[in-house]
Amino acid sequence: MSELHHECGVAAIYHLSGRGRSPMCGEEGPRQISRLLPRMLLDIQNRGQLAAGMTTLNTERPDLLRTRRDVGTVTEVFRLNHRAKAESLMKSLAGRAAIGHVRYATCGQDDRSYAQPFERKHIHKRKWFSFCFNGQLANYGVLKERLLADGDHHLSLDTDTEIILHEIGRILSEAPGRIEWIDVLRQVAAGFDGAYSLALLSAEGEMIVARDPLGIKPMCYVHEGPLFAAASESVALLNLGFESSQIKSLAPGHAIVIHPKKGLEILQFAKSPKPAHCFFEWIYFANVASTLDDRSVYLSRTRLGEELAKAEREMGRVPLDDPDTIIVPVPDTSKAAADAMAYELSIPCREGLIRNRYAGRTFIEGGRARKAKAATKYTPLREVMEGKRVILVEDSIVRSTTMNVLLDRIREVGGAKEIHVRVACPPIIAPCFYGIDMSTIDQLIAPKYFGVTGELTESSQQKLADDLGADTLSYLPVEAIARAIGLPAEHLCRACVTGEYPTDCGQHLYQIALDNRGSKQDSQRTYEQLAAALQK
Ligand code: SF4
Repeated sequence: MSELHHECGVAAIYHLSGRGRSPMCGEEGPRQISRLLPRMLLDIQNRGQLAAGMTTLNTERPDLLRTRRDVGTVTEVFRLNHRAKAESLMKSLAGRAAIGHVRYATCGQDDRSYAQPFERKHIHKRKWFSFCFNGQLANYGVLKERLLADGDHHLSLDTDTEIILHEIGRILSEAPGRIEWIDVLRQVAAGFDGAYSLALLSAEGEMIVARDPLGIKPMCYVHEGPLFAAASESVALLNLGFESSQIKSLAPGHAIVIHPKKGLEILQFAKSPKPAHCFFEWIYFANVASTLDDRSVYLSRTRLGEELAKAEREMGRVPLDDPDTIIVPVPDTSKAAADAMAYELSIPCREGLIRNRYAGRTFIEGGRARKAKAATKYTPLREVMEGKRVILVEDSIVRSTTMNVLLDRIREVGGAKEIHVRVACPPIIAPCFYGIDMSTIDQLIAPKYFGVTGELTESSQQKLADDLGADTLSYLPVEAIARAIGLPAEHLCRACVTGEYPTDCGQHLYQIALDNRGSKQDSQRTYEQLAAALQK
């Protein structure tokens, strides 16, 4: 469902000198390995389409670090559809190391200053660095108050990325002597509660790529000879030309530290009690061609489809051997689950909904605008659905608007005689405080029908079906997630479907969000309330 958005994606590449030449280099050689970064960002564009940017390192330039960042897609920001302009940009940004970012925005979507990486120039090379961040700190409000309490700091953007930037700057300034980057990270991360992956590049040529202590956010990397590359998703590394067997997931609480002379080492920067990988990565967010923490996104979605098929047989509410019964996925993320369900049930899976790929960038919109957008997003094909009993497979339902409009159009434009919605996910009953754009309970449709426990009953699912305009509707139970992904349930974050958060601040924020239900408090207020509560 296109209602959920990520905060961002991160990528990094480094060609060390004096260790030969990687076959991945283009004809311009290792000094211009940065040319590969926009391509990597394109592969993770699904994680953010509103802004993009990169910082490169080139010790032969006066500005050792150079950053280009702007609002727009990767293609727009790096002018990839204009050969001469793209070439000129790639030349000016050429470097043997680069970090990059794609951003989805919950605020400042048209403001270039929110685009990452954030570069902090300094006359001391040691303190000159650039930094990009994917995720969200649940204790953002607390960190903000602490930072501003000394009266010396000022926040111009009010994002957690800016807070981290200031924190790093403070640690560098206060260190009595030279401080290693891994120790900076250790100190900064000690105050974090949340989910993140980050990449940092210093003017001295050191790079850090890190993943949060619970591994909520993904981070994949590859190291072959002189070349190192990392990205939020493995697909970016696969498409560079690496074998899938070479691509690894960075362990939670660990950082890859690259030194221009000493090379690469992987160090732990924070205790990692047990992982809590975001299950939504496999269900919806990640590119279907990615593998995260050794679990294939495609195969996970396929198994969700098998779970749907099994449940369908058990329910027996739809005639499965009637030639009028067809399965239609809501494109694109539900396709693998729909295909697998259809295969298991020996029912045709048909492309009855065509997604308008050129609808443009997605901004957060409320009310009518959201409705209008939902109406233009998919075109139902009458040729496929007329007179049919449609089992509509959807990966999740967040708010009701998109589904409402979609069902109306499937009936009116597509001519379907029945619609049976099957959701390859449990009901989303709780907000995410780890970087996914849903942070108040009132925004969600499921708590209104399944309460805060998400208990699935036939009558509550039928009530939702009636209100949405479907003939029947059913979700998968919470237990199906771990089975489909193939990881133990206790190694997954499933907070938005269970209300059980893997961090203290997440749990605390949830309690505040529960107390705020019906009060029209926005999510920003929830974070401020946490800061106030923790100060008492
Ligand atoms: S709350 Fe949900 S969306 Fe957020 S990190 Fe956890 S599983 Fe992912």
